[in-house]
Amino acid sequence: MHNLKYTIANIAIILNADVKLFDKQAIIKYLVIDSRSILSPKDSLFFALSSHRNGHYFINDAYQKGIRNFVIADVTYSKQFSDCNFIIVDDVLTALQNIAIQHRNQYTLKTIGITGSNGKTIVKEWLYQLLAVDYNIIRSPKSYNSQIGVPLSVWQIDDEHTLGIFEAGISASNEMETLAKIIQPNIGILTNLGEAHAEGFSSKNQKLTEKLLLFKNAELFIYSPDYVTDLSIQEIPGKKQFSWSMSQEADLQIISVEPIVDKCYLRAIYKENEIECILPFQDKASIENGIICWATMLALGYSPKQADLRLEKLSHVSMRLELKNGINQCSIIDDSYSADISSLAIALDFLNQQNQHPKRTVIISELFETGKNDLDLYTEIANLLAQKQVNRLIGIGTHISNFASLFNLDTRFFDDTEAFISAFPTLNFSHETILIKGARRFEFARISKLLTQKIHDTVLEIDLNAMVGNLHFYRSKLKPGVKIMAMVKAFSYGSGSFEIANLLQFHKVDYLAVAYADEGIALRKAGITLPIMVMSPEEYAFEAIIKYQLEPEIYSLEILNGFLNTLPSEQSEFPIHIKIDSGMHRLGFDELDINELSGLLKKSKQIKVQSIFSHLVASGEAEHDGFTAKQIEKFEIMSRTLCDVLEYKPLLHISNTSGITRWPNGQFDMVRLGIGLYGFDSALIKNNELQTTMVLKTTVTQVKALNNGETVGYSRKGVMPNGGKIATVKIGYADGYNRAFGNGVGKMLINGKLVPTIGSICMDMTMLDISGMDVKPGDEAIVFNREHDIMVLAEEINTIPYEILTNISQRVKRVYFYE
Ligand SMILES: *Cc1c(COP(=O)(O)O)cnc(C)c1O
Repeated sequence: MHNLKYTIANIAIILNADVKLFDKQAIIKYLVIDSRSILSPKDSLFFALSSHRNGHYFINDAYQKGIRNFVIADVTYSKQFSDCNFIIVDDVLTALQNIAIQHRNQYTLKTIGITGSNGKTIVKEWLYQLLAVDYNIIRSPKSYNSQIGVPLSVWQIDDEHTLGIFEAGISASNEMETLAKIIQPNIGILTNLGEAHAEGFSSKNQKLTEKLLLFKNAELFIYSPDYVTDLSIQEIPGKKQFSWSMSQEADLQIISVEPIVDKCYLRAIYKENEIECILPFQDKASIENGIICWATMLALGYSPKQADLRLEKLSHVSMRLELKNGINQCSIIDDSYSADISSLAIALDFLNQQNQHPKRTVIISELFETGKNDLDLYTEIANLLAQKQVNRLIGIGTHISNFASLFNLDTRFFDDTEAFISAFPTLNFSHETILIKGARRFEFARISKLLTQKIHDTVLEIDLNAMVGNLHFYRSKLKPGVKIMAMVKAFSYGSGSFEIANLLQFHKVDYLAVAYADEGIALRKAGITLPIMVMSPEEYAFEAIIKYQLEPEIYSLEILNGFLNTLPSEQSEFPIHIKIDSGMHRLGFDELDINELSGLLKKSKQIKVQSIFSHLVASGEAEHDGFTAKQIEKFEIMSRTLCDVLEYKPLLHISNTSGITRWPNGQFDMVRLGIGLYGFDSALIKNNELQTTMVLKTTVTQVKALNNGETVGYSRKGVMPNGGKIATVKIGYADGYNRAFGNGVGKMLINGKLVPTIGSICMDMTMLDISGMDVKPGDEAIVFNREHDIMVLAEEINTIPYEILTNISQRVKRVYFYE
C-alpha cells in the first residue's frame, strides 16, 4: 500500500521504545485500533488504545484474528504470546500520533487543514469535489477528525498524492498542537464557529485560540474576520491571509445573496471588481460553506470564472449512511456519498454487523482518484469483501470487470448504471442486506430508489452513533467488571428491532431483555446470538422460549413449576432469571416465598439461575432515596438467601438507567440500561452528557389562507378570529401523535420556527398555525429533535418520554443513520 516500507523494527526506532520482537522484519502496512475491523492481519499493527475500555483487553481477540504486531503500554501483556512483536510505550495514543508525524515528515505534498465548529466535513468534501480534477487528493474519511482519526488518515498519504485535505476537531485544551504536527497544513481554513459550547475550555475565545494553533506555520489562512473579532492582528495565523465576509470589507466581500429556483446567486467584490457565482443550495449553512470554498478557490489562484463554473456543480454531501427497509424484505444500506477505500471499509463493517439476512450483497461502482493502481485497489477491495463475508458483488463501470478474477464470490458486472437498471428484474433481490456504494457520477441514487420501499413522508430517524455514544457514557460509569443488559423491549423503546440489537451485539453488551417471547423470537430470527431475557414469559410461549434459547424471567412459584414441567426431563441447566419484589409490587417473589423457592431451586437440575434481580421504583428521584436504599438492602438480603442454596454464583442486578449514576452500590454484577441508551436520564443534571438519538419528522401537504373567524378541523375546535395561514402535515394520532397535542398544546418546528397546532389532531393529519410565515407544501415539519426535545413534548401533555417514544406507531418508517 505504501511506497514507503515500514518494518516493525523501523517503527520501534521511530518510537524509541522498548520492544519484545519475534520477527523484526515484519512489514507494517495498516494501523489498527479496533480488533473488530481488521483488513489484513499479517501486516497490521494493533494499538491497545484505551478510550471507553482498556484496549489491552482486546489483544487476545486481535491475536485470534491473526494480528502479530502490537503497541502496548502494559508490559505484562507482552508475556501473553511468544510468536508476536510487542512495542512497549508509555502512552499508546501518543505512539500512534508519533508514527503519523514521522510518516507525514516524509512527504512534501501541499495540505489543507480545516477547523471550526460546523461545516468542516462539508467544506472538506466540497473542496474535494472542486479540486479533484487538478490534484490527486488524499482526505480524511467522513468526520474522522479526532486525535485518533487524524493520524489514521495521515498514515494513508502516499507518493501519488499531490494534495491532502484534513479536518481537525478538538474537545480539550492542548490537543491542537499535536494535530498541527501530524497534518502540517500549508493552507488553513476556519469554518463557522457557531454558538457551540466551549466545554473543555475556559472560554469561547480560548477555544478559538487553541483551534488556530493548527495554522501556526501555515502559509495561507482563509477566514472570515467576523469570527475572530476578539483577536489582535498578531494573533491571526498564516504568512498570508485571505478573508471573506458578508458584512464587512474583505478580500472576498459578498454584497448580495439572492435565491433563484433551488439555487442562490451571489455577487461579491474581489480585487476591486464585481464577480458572481451560483451555488446550487439555498440554506444558510450551505451558502456559508459554499462561500468558504469560493474564497479558497480564489486564494488558490483560480479565476472567478473557473470558480463559478465549478461551484455551480457542487452536490449535496450526505454525511451518513442510511439503513432502511427495501423491497422483498431486503435491508438497504445506502451510502452513495463517497467512494473511497476508507469509507468503503466503514460501510462494509456496518454491513457485516447486520445479521438479519444470511446473504450480503454489495453494489459498487468503480472508484476514482484513489492514488492506487487498479490492481492494488481491486485486490484490496476483494480482500475487504472476503473478510466481511459478502456473498455477492455487483460491479458497475467498464474497468472493474477486468479484475473479475480477483473476486472470490458471486459476481455480476455492468458497464454503467443504465445497464444495471435494465437487468434489474432478472437480479432477484430478496431477503438480503444490500450495500449501495458508488462514485457520484454513477448516480446510484437511482439504484437506491429501485430497491427501497416507498417511504411515507413521516419518518423516525435514528442516529446509531449517538446510541453508541450513550452506551459508552454508561459504560464509563460502571465499576470494573459490571455487565450491561440492554433493554430492547417495546421495539427498543420505539426505535427498532434487529437494527438496534445488531448494534448492541456488535458493541458487546452482555445481555438483551425483551418483554414478550415474540420480541425475542424476532431477534433470534434476525440472527441475534446474545443471551435474551424474556420478562413476561407466558405459559403458552414456554415451548418457543426453549426452542429459541430465550431465558425466562421467573417471578412466581406457578411460573417456575409450569416451566419445569415444560422442560424436557433430560434438560440440564436451562438458564432462568429470578425476579424479586423489593418494593415495586408488580411482578416478583415476596419474602414469604423465598424458602419454598430455595428448596425448588436446590433440587431442580433442569434449570440454572443465571441471575437474580429486582427493579427500583424511583432510582432517579431524590425524594425517594430512602426507599431506594431500602430496596437495595432488601434485594441484597433476599438474594443472599437464594445464593446460599445454589452451588454457583448467579449475576445480581437491580439498577435501571437512573440508578447507574446515582447508586454506584446498586450496580452489583450487572445493570439494566433502558431509556439512557435512547438519550434520556432524569438523574443526570447536565443534559448534554447524553446524545439525542431520534428525530421525528413529517412534511407539509397543503397550505391555506383563512379569513377572519374561519375554523379549522373537526368540531370547529380551531378558531382563527383574525384569519391567518395554516399548514396541514402528514402525522396524526394513528402515527402516535397524541390527541392531547391538539389546539395549540403541541408545537412543531418549521423552517427553524416553533409553530402551534390548531384544531384537533386528526387520525392521519395535523394542522399547524403558520400565520405570517413563508411555508410551502413539501417543507419539513419536525415533531421532535435535539432542539425541540421529547422532554418538552412529554411535559406539554403531562407524560414521560417513555410514552412519547413507544407510542410512535409502526406505520412510521424508521431510517437508521450511521457514520
Ligand atoms: C424497562 C425496564 C428497565 C429499564 O428502565 P429504564 O428506566 O428505561 O432504564 C429495567 N428493568 C426492568 C425490569 C424494566 O422493565
